[in-house]
Amino acid sequence: MAPGNSENNPMFKRMALIGIGLIGSSISHAARRAGLVSEIVCSSLTAEERERAEKLGLATKAYPDPIDAVKGADIVILCTPVGAFQEIAEAIGPHLERGAIVSDVGSVKGAAVRDIAPHIPDGVHFIAGHPIAGTEQSGPDAGFAELFDGRWCILTPGPDADPKALAKLEEFWRQLGSNVELMTPEHHDLVLAITSHVPHLIAYNIVNTAAHLERVTDSEVIKFSAAGFRDFTRIAASDPVMWRDVFLNNKEAVLEMLGRFSEDLVALQRAIRFGDGSTLERTFADARAIRRGIIQAGQDTAQPDFGRGAARARKGSD
Ligand code: NAP
Repeated sequence: MAPGNSENNPMFKRMALIGIGLIGSSISHAARRAGLVSEIVCSSLTAEERERAEKLGLATKAYPDPIDAVKGADIVILCTPVGAFQEIAEAIGPHLERGAIVSDVGSVKGAAVRDIAPHIPDGVHFIAGHPIAGTEQSGPDAGFAELFDGRWCILTPGPDADPKALAKLEEFWRQLGSNVELMTPEHHDLVLAITSHVPHLIAYNIVNTAAHLERVTDSEVIKFSAAGFRDFTRIAASDPVMWRDVFLNNKEAVLEMLGRFSEDLVALQRAIRFGDGSTLERTFADARAIRRGIIQAGQDTAQPDFGRGAARARKGSD
């Protein structure tokens, strides 16, 4: 076993997870699977979540106040919605251990750096991060150890980031199962605007459009949802607070990508109006090629129905 990842020689002595929802709890599962830390503690706002976190063994102690969680921690990861980062960073800043690594998992990186970095004292290493892995579920019960396996984790170190701390955080994410890529926060936010943020906005919008139709009943929308609508509803089931914060904090990049999207949509609208079959066919063929590329890159399965049938069969349920 590689040094630093056995029960006897963990990479970190105390990991503090601030927020213990889907991503925080999955980090806990994966870190314990790999034996990366001696002790895991967390903080969460609600008593119910703290109780679940301790009961599920995600943390030996779940605190209401993040200040108590970070005391003595050599790695601290903010796993709350992005909108909470500034207040949390301001509170924990004076209580961070010298030499500790502070990171986050927020879906927007420019705002994370803006809100966290000013509160990190000298001698503490802040490197922002974002695991490109998730589900539409939330809360401490939603996490699982395999969430990050084979997925990418993007780290956005500043120009002055400590090379040793960066190498350690990269290794931490690899041990959690991820591949790691480095980029600037600005580039991250542009890439994620088109690969994640705009698709979620479209899903939220189409589900609401269908819900408000007058000539199609709600029961018909649900009954015939397998025609395509169903896949949008899965994405639109994601946590509303998390996504509110994503759009409030990645405004510029989302608006830029939304502009491009709207122009392309109008081009398709014209092709339909004027019966331009070749444009429609070419556009759909190009899109299909992208899907094949994602499967070849191991980022999804080629199973029909997005692998749902196979997953159900493996679990033995219907
Ligand atoms: P989640 O399941 O809803 O969990 C959020 C956690 O944050 C909960 O434990 C919540 O505790 C806590 N929290 C909220 N406000 C807080 C505050 N002010 N102070 C302390 N704790 C607070 O969300 P998630 O899906 O794990 O997302 C967490 C972060 O990961 C977000 O920044 C998101 O952008 C990012 N992310 C999400 C995904 C995804 O697919 N879901 C993927 C990659 C990254 P209470 O319920 O007790 O308030």
